[in-house]
This record gives sequence, C-alpha cells and structure tokens, in this order.
Amino acid sequence: MIKMAGRIVCLGIESTAHTFGVGIVKSDGSVLSNVASVYKTKKGWGIIPKDAAEHHKRVKKDVLKKALCKAKLKLEDIDIVSFSQGPGLPLSLRVGMDFVKELSSKTNKPVYGVNHCIAHIEIGMLKTKSKDPVTLYVSGGNTQVIAFTGGRYRCFGETMDIAIGNALDMFARKVGMDYPGGPKIERFAKKGKYVELPYVVKGMDTSFTGIVSEAVRKFKQGAKIEDLCFSLQETCFAMLTEITERALAHTGKDEVLLTGGVAANGRLQQMLKTMCKDRGARFFVVPKEFAGDNGSMIAWTGILSAMSGQMPVSLDKTDIKPRWRTDELDIMWR
Ligand code: AMP
Ligand code: MG
Repeated sequence: MIKMAGRIVCLGIESTAHTFGVGIVKSDGSVLSNVASVYKTKKGWGIIPKDAAEHHKRVKKDVLKKALCKAKLKLEDIDIVSFSQGPGLPLSLRVGMDFVKELSSKTNKPVYGVNHCIAHIEIGMLKTKSKDPVTLYVSGGNTQVIAFTGGRYRCFGETMDIAIGNALDMFARKVGMDYPGGPKIERFAKKGKYVELPYVVKGMDTSFTGIVSEAVRKFKQGAKIEDLCFSLQETCFAMLTEITERALAHTGKDEVLLTGGVAANGRLQQMLKTMCKDRGARFFVVPKEFAGDNGSMIAWTGILSAMSGQMPVSLDKTDIKPRWRTDELDIMWR
C-alpha cells in the first residue's frame, strides 16, 4: 500500500456523461481544486454520446492543467489517481479511463476505480458533515434513494424509466428551452398554478416519462408554461419526497442528504426540509459547486478507497463499468 501514514493527495477524473471534471483533494478532506467543462447539446437535442466523448477528448488536457494550476501542484506531487469507472455512457467513460491510463503510464501512480453514484453520496457527506443519511440522489442520469446498511449502499427506491433531471430536461427541450432545463423550469414555476398531471409511485419506485408526455400534451393544447413548470415540479418532487420519507421510516435513520445536480432546486429542498421537520430528522443539501458531476467527488472517494486498504486497479485488466450499480460494492471505509 502507498504512504497511508501521512496525508495523501488524490487527483480524480469524472467523465460519465456531460461533464469532464478534474478534482484534487487531500486526505484531510480539503478540496484543492475542482475544475470542469460541460458538453452542451445543440438546441432541441438530447445528449449525443459520440459528441460528448469528443468534447471530453478535446478539453481533457486543459481541464487537467487548470486543476493542477489551481491546486498549485505538479502531476508528480499527486499520490494517487482515481476515475469514474461507472455507471455512465460507455464512450464518455472510456475517455476518462484512457486518460487515466495515459497519466499513469507517465507517472506510475496507483489508480482507483470509483463508483460515480457512491461518489455523489461521499462528497455530500464530506461537505455537509452528515453521518449516516438516507440519500436522495437526483441527477441527469440517476434517481435513487440510498441508505447504508449491511456493509453496502443499498438502493431503497429508484426510477423505473428516466432520471428526474433527464425528465426536466426532456420537457424543457420539447417546449423550446435549451439545456439544462431544470433551472429554467424552476424560474417559470415560481409564477405558476397547479394543473393536474399523473402521479406515479409504485412501491418505492417512480416513473417520469408519462408525466412528461402529459405535460407536453397539455402544452400543445395551450396550457401556460408557468403552470406546467409549477405542476411538473410539484408532482415529481412530491413523489421523490414520498419515497424518501418511506426509506427514512423503514431504516429508522434520522438524516436526509440531497445530492446530484437536481439538488440545486429550491422547491425540492423545501419539500424535503418540511418532511424532515415533521419527522424530527435533519436535512442536508450538498453545496451547489459539488451538486452536479465533478472531479473532486471522484478524488475524495479515491482517497476513501485507498485509505481503507482497497487495492488499486491493474490498468491492463480493468475496464469501464457502464451499468455498475450502487449496491454491488462492499464499502470498506465505513
Ligand atoms: P448532474 O447529472 O448531476 O450533472 O446534474 C445535471 C442535471 O441537474 C440536469 O438534468 C439539470 O437540468 C439539473 N438541474 C440543475 N439545476 C437544477 C435546478 N435548479 N432545478 C432542477 N434541476 C436542475
Ligand atoms: Mg451524476
């Protein structure tokens, strides 16, 4: 194992979807830099995997350079390297892994493969000082209610189709707003009134595609955009609050952590806060800088992996894991 006695510095690379990010984090939890470049889709289009990967290839060196410069470090000063191994878009993931291989062949640093969803939870816990939360992880590609039990992060509920961020972006796209749709919908929603949309919770799982279709149908029939944005938020966020509350009741935990890009939404925060207050639970939100995909969450989880004695990956044998589930991994650092 590497020099675990002293402080170590990890450089983490994120490249699961839209974002190419590099973060540099120390084992005391301080974030030395967190730099990202986000691929923007053409107006009216969703993510085109090939274009996202091309974007990542184009910016990777520049993002790395900026991250090192901001941290006032050279590549040689880094102790370990980590990368987002999955889940995510295969082409995007591969750019990150190939870049890590390139860096590692130059520097010989140990490399750790990190689960992207778990990294969102860990950066949330680091930044909010929550200890053992039920996590609502809501982003462009994922929607999960997760809690730690029996040595793993277990998934208590999730979306049965698309992620909430994707649902918001899809609605936005269909009514002529560009990416990312979430913040624009939030602004319109402030002036809206409720119109009925389907509410879809099955057991602990949610589904969003039918809600988006109905909202788009109502838009084409002349419903006001403000009302549709308001109703979309009220409906989808109430569903997410419901399953989070049930996970709290089931696990007996007394903290909720909101993380992922959609965590920036004030109305979702407000609903969860009210629910937590009613149940005597504490509510935490990841700071905005660390809410969306970022390299420092990968770096921090790389540090946790290394410090807990996990073995580095062997780069000639390891591969990306596009469908790597949150609950497939034994967590050695808790
Ligand atoms: P991530 O996949 O974690 O990088 O997060 C990106 C997603 O967060 C996109 O789907 C955005 O539309 C969404 N998002 C960002 N800000 C907000 C907001 N204020 N309200 C709702 N969704 C948001
Ligand atoms: Mg994410």
